[in-house]
Amino acid sequence: MMHQQLPARPFLRKTISLLSAFLVFSYYSFSQAVPSPEAFLGYGLGDHFTPHYKIVGYFKEVEKAIPGQVKVEQYGTTYEGRPLLLAYVASPENLRRLESIRRNNLRLAGVTGPEAGERDAAGGVGGGNVMSATGAAQAEENAPVIVWLSYNVHGNEPASSEAAMKTLYELVNPTNEKAKEWLRNTIVIIDPCINPDGRDRYVNWYNMAVGAAPNPDPQSREHREPWPAGRSNHYNFDLNRDWAWQTQKETQQRLKKYNAWLPQVHVDYHEQGYNNPYYFAPAAEPYHDVITPWQREFQVLIGKNNAAAFDRQGWLYFTKEEFDLFYPSYGDTYPTYNGAIGMTYEQGGISAGLAVLTSDGDTLTLGDRLEHHYTTGMATIETASKNAPRLVKEFHKYFSDAVAHPTGEFKSYFIRNDTFGDRLERLKVLLGKNGIDWVPVSSGGYAGVDYETGKTAAFKAVPGDIVINANQPKSNLLRVLFERASRISDSVTYDITAWSVPYVYGLQAYGMGAYVAGTGDGAGGDAGGVKGVPRVAAGGTPGGMKGEGDPSAGQYAYAVRWTGMRSVRFPAAMLEQGIKTRFAEQAFQSGGQRFDKGTLILTATGNGHLGKGLWTTITEAAQKTGVPLVPIGSGFVEKGADFGSGLVHLIHKPRVAILTGEGVSALDAGEVWHLFEQDLGYPVSFINAGDVGRVEWKNYDVLILPNGFYKALDDKNSAEPFRNWVRAGGRLIAIQNAVQQLSKMEWGIRQKSAGKDKKDDDKDDNKDDHKEKGDVDYSALHRYGDRQREEVANSVPGSIYRVELDNSHPLAFGYPDRYYTLKEDEAVYEFIKEGGWNVGVIKKDNYVSGFTGNKAKEKLKDGLIFGVQNMGRGEIIYMADDPLFRSFWENGKLLFCNAVFLVGQ
Ligand SMILES: [Zn+2]
Repeated sequence: MMHQQLPARPFLRKTISLLSAFLVFSYYSFSQAVPSPEAFLGYGLGDHFTPHYKIVGYFKEVEKAIPGQVKVEQYGTTYEGRPLLLAYVASPENLRRLESIRRNNLRLAGVTGPEAGERDAAGGVGGGNVMSATGAAQAEENAPVIVWLSYNVHGNEPASSEAAMKTLYELVNPTNEKAKEWLRNTIVIIDPCINPDGRDRYVNWYNMAVGAAPNPDPQSREHREPWPAGRSNHYNFDLNRDWAWQTQKETQQRLKKYNAWLPQVHVDYHEQGYNNPYYFAPAAEPYHDVITPWQREFQVLIGKNNAAAFDRQGWLYFTKEEFDLFYPSYGDTYPTYNGAIGMTYEQGGISAGLAVLTSDGDTLTLGDRLEHHYTTGMATIETASKNAPRLVKEFHKYFSDAVAHPTGEFKSYFIRNDTFGDRLERLKVLLGKNGIDWVPVSSGGYAGVDYETGKTAAFKAVPGDIVINANQPKSNLLRVLFERASRISDSVTYDITAWSVPYVYGLQAYGMGAYVAGTGDGAGGDAGGVKGVPRVAAGGTPGGMKGEGDPSAGQYAYAVRWTGMRSVRFPAAMLEQGIKTRFAEQAFQSGGQRFDKGTLILTATGNGHLGKGLWTTITEAAQKTGVPLVPIGSGFVEKGADFGSGLVHLIHKPRVAILTGEGVSALDAGEVWHLFEQDLGYPVSFINAGDVGRVEWKNYDVLILPNGFYKALDDKNSAEPFRNWVRAGGRLIAIQNAVQQLSKMEWGIRQKSAGKDKKDDDKDDNKDDHKEKGDVDYSALHRYGDRQREEVANSVPGSIYRVELDNSHPLAFGYPDRYYTLKEDEAVYEFIKEGGWNVGVIKKDNYVSGFTGNKAKEKLKDGLIFGVQNMGRGEIIYMADDPLFRSFWENGKLLFCNAVFLVGQ
């Protein structure tokens, strides 16, 4: 509602000071000026879903009305071009000194420098940002507490952005005395919508689907959102799994701001199924070990104040169940591992539309939902404000403890450079994004626990290696990201249980018991060429960057080593420009240098149409993709096959299609889409899974079936067109469940039957159970109370297994003889006996890290994970595990690209 103008004041006595007259004037003029959401939108909150541009409009309008208390800042744009906003809400005194409050807060965290929180990978060099305890002590503890509220990360959980408008308004509503009091010592940062593309996808669809009045019938179409739904961002990524990895544009831009602030309290607003009541902190087990007693304690304090507010209204809620604190890339855990009290709040509401009939017979409205979110927001700010001194003090202690007494198995982590690859460079980018410092170490002997063997080994440092010391402000986050095996206090968790970064990046790592000083050796300032600038190729030849290697000067060819994603971006660019590119099936030696399998070879032969421009085009593409070019003087190699040999294959430019739409996992299809567009810049066609019967398959060379359920693969008849296309030379790449469906086709691959074979079972029975003839089998009697535990025995919530690779096959080019895979289910396949290749298999003891239920563990032995099956003139490439998981499983990307570009050439 609007605030009424007060009646004119009687004559003011002369004694009243000018100042107080001014204050009275500004107070009342202010109360007229701040528009309520209703006044701005033209409808009451909860009557309609507000499109994102109007939310932006409202926030800017409030800033305009009361610039002394609200500052709105655009921190970026989404993939679809929508603005991303932060609103800083504070008392006029605090808003004026916002920047100095921010800097002081970073000093409390031991992170210094104006650029702190905005460092790129290069910022980590030399460990200059590792603070001593004395440096941190200069920070002022008598500072405001910072509460950061993040709304609508999942686009189709839209009540929270509506609540954000109400929260903003009430915080600066002059009649709200409580809010005024809180803002004396509290800065509130509001991100009204983390995921505007997803939100508008939902809202635009809903407005189209709803009738003149909302229909609460749950079966009505307005409660049945179509594929791919609004939860994810443009590329169908779940932004609430992306905080640590920052693979998405929205996250990258937001985390720069987040790390430049490091709030003491962070709330991530969600909705869950609409039959659920409200959920708020304290979170459920498991809590990661790294979470401090203070963080646990304050979760309870906040939860109790939220509960009191809900009790007053008689609303239902639950705490301590379902939403745990473990996987590090959520909107609750990431802030928690960065010193905050990080929390998820969940309103029941997904698919509820404006109104829905719930299972207990009530009608739940958008108005109810936003009111609940608004209530927890205000109660949380209240708790923070009332405990501000302690929150700031504990925040300070959190970071000084992190520097002085880092917890965890190791004091430092030694990471080996991958000589020709870009895996370490990619890791440095990740460290930079998270404010984790490292030092170059180029010489000296060390000992540490080898991540691959779990055993202590002695080794020598060589130039390019780095060490990450644990005594730094971000040591808790560092520990969570790097620990080999995360101890899990409860095996029922919401997400994957293993993400240890050395396995994810495919890097050799050692955990060590002592800190290591960096050895600056000249390379230190630019260790590893972090900005993707091509490095000097081995042998001392600068990678042909200055356009040298003109064919007239005796140039014969260029070679590009096949070592990582950088290598793939290069041929993707070559093929796009019509430049013929070959790869060597075997290792060779030329000019005294060894080149491994998969090395790309670019010759003048076949590329005559480009004339002299050829070499310029090649060097430019190399520069752009950051790949080192090695000039080759002759096609006659010293060892291995000459360039004209049949063992050197021409890459025929693949025309790629991806099946998407109903039945396909939107997230998994999104990973493939993102890889082609953002990593490779290579064109793909998206085919709706419902259209498979009317597609001209001969127009494509590669067809990708992301994880999903495909109707067309449900029976042999409808699958026949796929089979014919493969026989005619097509390459089918099937991932996860698509493999499982193909295994039922009897085309060759078969899923391993559950468990051990019969013989083993009998033997075990005799040995373990001492069963006598005639004994009653009580194993069928399960305790009702144990039902969740028993499910767990079969579960694989995401753990790491070592896969033995046959790296003589092009599918595994660019890899050593092993790969660490994220196992999300218990599916393994029988070895392909003929007509194909078992490229990646797990053997008996290949479990590495994470939780796998006892029964599932039994099944995950001696089976195929990655394989290639020949069929007619084509191939089927099986990937039982997702090599592109959430786009952060960096070491799997090359495997996938090998399937697209090298296999079957
Ligand atoms: Zn959510």
